[in-house]
Amino acid sequence: MMLKGTKVYSIFTGACPKCHQESMYKNRNPYVLRDVFKINEKCSHCNTRYLIEPSFFYGSMYVSYGVGIAFAVAAFIISYLFLHSSLLTAFIAIVVTMIAFGPIILRLSRNIWINLFMSYDKNLVKK
Ligand SMILES: [Zn+2]
Repeated sequence: MMLKGTKVYSIFTGACPKCHQESMYKNRNPYVLRDVFKINEKCSHCNTRYLIEPSFFYGSMYVSYGVGIAFAVAAFIISYLFLHSSLLTAFIAIVVTMIAFGPIILRLSRNIWINLFMSYDKNLVKK
């Protein structure tokens, strides 16, 4: 992957924020809802602990607010401005989008949150 080594890669793939060698999640598919919160304890490649402190990922709620707004604004622009729907239809489109993309918003927020605290380290990849 050409973006490997950047935060963007880790944020969009859910890869370990330090070595980018494996997924942080037990199940990479966010739509398997019973596994959506399940995260590995640490990276089997570089031994990075993902839970820096207890309840670390509660902080990602702050991020998910911003990510959610981004999805809502996108839904509004597409339905109201591009498809010329009524305001009520645009509102329904926003609600449907928030529900449909909920698991993705949740994972993106967690990935952004952990990437605020950890950076890629290319020395860990060679191990
Ligand atoms: Zn790792």
